[in-house]
Amino acid sequence: MRIVVKVGTSTLAYATGHLNIRHMESLVKVLSDLKNAGYEIILVSSGAVGMGMGKLSLGARPESLSLKQAVAAVGQCELMHTYDRLFTEYNHTVAQILLTAEDVREDGRRENFINTVEQLLELGALPVVNENDTVATSELTIGDNDTLAAIVAVCIGAKELILLSDIDGLYTADPRTCGGARLIPRVEEITPEIEALAGGAGSASGTGGMVTKLKAARIAGAHGCETVIANGRDPSVLYDILDGREVGTRFAGKEQP
Ligand code: GLU
Repeated sequence: MRIVVKVGTSTLAYATGHLNIRHMESLVKVLSDLKNAGYEIILVSSGAVGMGMGKLSLGARPESLSLKQAVAAVGQCELMHTYDRLFTEYNHTVAQILLTAEDVREDGRRENFINTVEQLLELGALPVVNENDTVATSELTIGDNDTLAAIVAVCIGAKELILLSDIDGLYTADPRTCGGARLIPRVEEITPEIEALAGGAGSASGTGGMVTKLKAARIAGAHGCETVIANGRDPSVLYDILDGREVGTRFAGKEQP
């Protein structure tokens, strides 16, 4: 089975921008084990800007485009170096793919990307995808990695899109401010009521939030791909998700109104 797993900056790094070694090690261990079990995995990983901030000791997320692009160039190196080192311990080979919106919009370029992923999977490598933040300009940006992960899932015909975040799933209210908030285990249809439950962006170093996750579920669902939003704090949730157990919020893999 082919799956796309997306991890956000909040899972990979502390608010300081420095690597969350415990999270990253356990994520790589679980992904390696799933790969050994026969899953074809594509990892969509954020963290370029977050890790660049840590490496360059910047206190706040860069605002100007050129600074953000420079910081991402530094952080992407650190990110891939870390994945390469950790996956090598389990005998797996990673491959970096950096995309801009043009690469998935234009038929020829999209086909090229798909062919490369197919080839990498055939070789047994694990593609690690991120937006090419260093060259993506505002007109060409996909903008967030939830959407990017959904586009990747559709392109390569994945059956499952798993978005690991710093929140357990979609709640009936914001759990950070509302004590009575309940987790919604399954969403059959993304209605306007469900959309109203999604607030703004989540953390200081990432760009995602519930809005982009619902958008991702909609894109994936339209192509028969199920989406699960779950907490990346303990990556062993991936086993439960793939076993079909009730974890996080699961969105039906069907066209949404
Ligand atoms: N591509 C950005 C990064 O690697 C992250 C985008 C996102 O968090 O959605 O920092």
